[in-house]
Amino acid sequence: MNGKKPVLEIKGLRTQFFLREGVVTALDGIDLTIYENESVGIVGETGCGKSMTAYSILRLVPHPGRITAGSIKYKGNELTTLDIDRMRSVRGTKISMIFQDASTALDPVFTVRDQLGEVISLHQGIYDKAALDKKILEALELVRIAAPRDVMRMYPHELSGGMKQRVMISLALSCSPSLLIADEPTTALDVTIQGQILKLLKALVAKTGSSMMLITHNLGIVAETCDRICVMYAGRIVEDAETFELFANPRHPYTAGLLVAFPKLGEKKAELPVIRGTVPDLMNPFKGCPFVDRCDKALEVCSKQRPSRVAVSPGHFVSCHLWSGGG
Ligand code: SF4
Repeated sequence: MNGKKPVLEIKGLRTQFFLREGVVTALDGIDLTIYENESVGIVGETGCGKSMTAYSILRLVPHPGRITAGSIKYKGNELTTLDIDRMRSVRGTKISMIFQDASTALDPVFTVRDQLGEVISLHQGIYDKAALDKKILEALELVRIAAPRDVMRMYPHELSGGMKQRVMISLALSCSPSLLIADEPTTALDVTIQGQILKLLKALVAKTGSSMMLITHNLGIVAETCDRICVMYAGRIVEDAETFELFANPRHPYTAGLLVAFPKLGEKKAELPVIRGTVPDLMNPFKGCPFVDRCDKALEVCSKQRPSRVAVSPGHFVSCHLWSGGG
């Protein structure tokens, strides 16, 4: 990839939940590489494993789930076997996460200054009040918060939704992480504020040199923000290509279905087409392609054999029997 080094390399990642009713395979063999200064969008329907990929990277998979196979390397260092203390230091300093709803991620009983100050002190070793205030102001100015001196003294409930999200972005970036994971960062916001926050995120990753993994169900958001897109379905990445290429030449029937269902500016359709059927039950292991029951192009082999990942053009990968010659 243009001689760039990988920041994150995931190979064969499987994350499963061990419930009384059975085993749910939330991630079923994820392969994903994010390079330095690259923004990668992860798209797919609810429950396809987008957020679980993020939780697995950060080793925050909730009980009774756990990573059962595969490797996650951050700059060449394996994360799946890292001890808890070292993993804690990776979170925040090396890999930061912006959550969907800033209201629940910010602590309601502490001011913005308290929360930003704690993170900066912990990760940058700055405890002197004047030096810390200077750093906090810089962090708030970076995310273009109006009147940052006033905002420092405020509690989360005194901030608007957009301001809370800016504070959370500021928290996530205050330790200059190499990788920023943003999980549906604008879903809880008004449409006008969504655009501002996305523009800000894009500008900040370019300015700080971080890489970004942007999780969303909204194709419009990744089209505007990301260099590359990974399409997830039923715990697998089914297609992976640069943004323009994916929109111009979708190869997987699921991606093609998502794009047809995606409203385009100026296009008049009485009704937007939908992909028929529903996502499969992840508790029932499937031998073949998980999309088979919804796919109009399914072949006989599709229900029997898992399609392997093949390159259809340089940098464009797809897992589908239509392209892998039946396996
Ligand atoms: S592998 Fe078969 S069922 Fe799956 S998307 Fe391709 S054609 Fe459709």
